[in-house]
Amino acid sequence: MILPKYDMFLKTQLESSSRKLRYLTILVVMASLVHTACGNDKSEPPVFDGARAYDYLVKQCDFGPRVPGTQAHRACLNYLTSELQKFDANVSHQSFLSQIPKTGQSVTMTNIVASFGVNKTERILLCAHWDTRPWADEDDSTENNDKPILGANDGASGVAVLMEVARHLQLREPKVGVDIILFDGEDAGIPGQSHTYALGSRHFAKNKNPGYRPKFGLLLDMVGDKDLDIYQEEHSLEHAPYIVDKVWTKAQGLNLTKFIPMPGYEVTDDHLPLLEAGIPCIDIIDFNYRYWHTLEDTPDKCSPESLATVGQLVLSVIYED
Ligand SMILES: [Zn+2]
Repeated sequence: MILPKYDMFLKTQLESSSRKLRYLTILVVMASLVHTACGNDKSEPPVFDGARAYDYLVKQCDFGPRVPGTQAHRACLNYLTSELQKFDANVSHQSFLSQIPKTGQSVTMTNIVASFGVNKTERILLCAHWDTRPWADEDDSTENNDKPILGANDGASGVAVLMEVARHLQLREPKVGVDIILFDGEDAGIPGQSHTYALGSRHFAKNKNPGYRPKFGLLLDMVGDKDLDIYQEEHSLEHAPYIVDKVWTKAQGLNLTKFIPMPGYEVTDDHLPLLEAGIPCIDIIDFNYRYWHTLEDTPDKCSPESLATVGQLVLSVIYED
């Protein structure tokens, strides 16, 4: 039983509490509005610039074929390194002596590692190969089969997207740390002998610090085709299905219809050594490219729009939290 006086006291207290609650509610609503207004800028991913990325694609091709052991390869290595340094990345080289499997020629190969937010423990790995195939062995013209390809799509496109991503990483720091690795020696293999491909990523995986455990990895390869359609790659689906699902769901949310949520092909690529080393890495690749391993893999077959499609997806994944 509550005494009337006490009851009155309680009523006053309740009214006071109720007023306080109303004020509090108003304050909370206002605060959330302010938070939303400020937060919109922060939660929206940056806008990827396809034209800038396409410039990076053309610049790499201007060096000529980037075949390990050639002057063009060395010049492009210096170029990519100095560009990444301009974005304040912590850049290092992982060089190793290897052989071109078909010829036995000894060459120095170099993985380029550019890290952002080096002190962050939660990390994402982004990678692509920067070397190009020494032979156009898929070219219809047999006289071209021993000539090196320019690799506008097969090589330069993935790197081009990551260079533009690197620019954004400098402009706005994401919550996660990001490691960009440009692998060498991906494409000098002998058809049918999968172990002769992906030499740079094999070297990286074999020598990586056991404590290096990024949340996941995204490999970009052949992402510049004007006629872009990116299906899900089979090895990725088998070994890192949740990353495939995350990426294609994100693409659907962004209305990036060039990402087709269906299995399309199985590709031997730089993600395989990473998967074997315990890094859940998927291959984002459009393998339906009629100029693959021919002399016609040139910049005019690629487009800024295609690079932007993939680049926007990557930025959205990086800045999603
Ligand atoms: Zn290739």
